[in-house]
Amino acid sequence: MKLKENMQCPICANGILKKEQKKHEVQYKDKKTIIDNLDVLVCTTCHDGFYTKKSERKINIVFADMKRKEENLLTSKEIKEIRKQNYLTQEELSVLLGMSLKTIARYENGTIIQGRSTDILLRLLRDYPATIKFLKNYSSLLDTSLLIENKL
Ligand SMILES: [Zn+2]
Repeated sequence: MKLKENMQCPICANGILKKEQKKHEVQYKDKKTIIDNLDVLVCTTCHDGFYTKKSERKINIVFADMKRKEENLLTSKEIKEIRKQNYLTQEELSVLLGMSLKTIARYENGTIIQGRSTDILLRLLRDYPATIKFLKNYSSLLDTSLLIENKL
């Protein structure tokens, strides 16, 4: 069930959920980051709080990027920049790398964290533009229509 402002509280079924902005601390190992002004839906009666989908996404991105920094992996923003710098859509990049569109989208929105080998590959794209040219030639030899259609 998607919780929204002014809905009945799913816990006590008495109060109404009102949107408040709260500080939220995200922790990874010994590192902490404070997110200011995170939307939380708070019940007027039992005062239980719920994150909105948007807040959950934000927490995920912050957490994923903390982990990436700690593990020396590219951040979601850096991944997006590499793609934009090469004038590629998410779909085009997914074809070039032989990955699903969903995977690329998830790297960029923080839902999943790229593995080390993907990270190395992305760094090659960033630092050696000729890699893109190679991949464009290479992927033109493959039947990538399946990859796109199935959105694997
Ligand atoms: Zn309640």
